[in-house]
Amino acid sequence: MECRTALSAELDGEAADAVPEDVRRHLRDCPACVDWLAAAHRLQRLVRAARLAADRGE
Ligand SMILES: [Zn+2]
Repeated sequence: MECRTALSAELDGEAADAVPEDVRRHLRDCPACVDWLAAAHRLQRLVRAARLAADRGE
């Protein structure tokens, strides 16, 4: 899906204000992508936390 490609690009950026204007505009009329992005961010945080724990040898 084309919009998912744009969202993946947003996910790769760390700062929320790095969201491109066209992606932001798309999110306003695509609730499915808003949900997807929220889930993806949650997952990203979990992965990061797990990686940090692994680095500490937990
Ligand atoms: Zn969409």
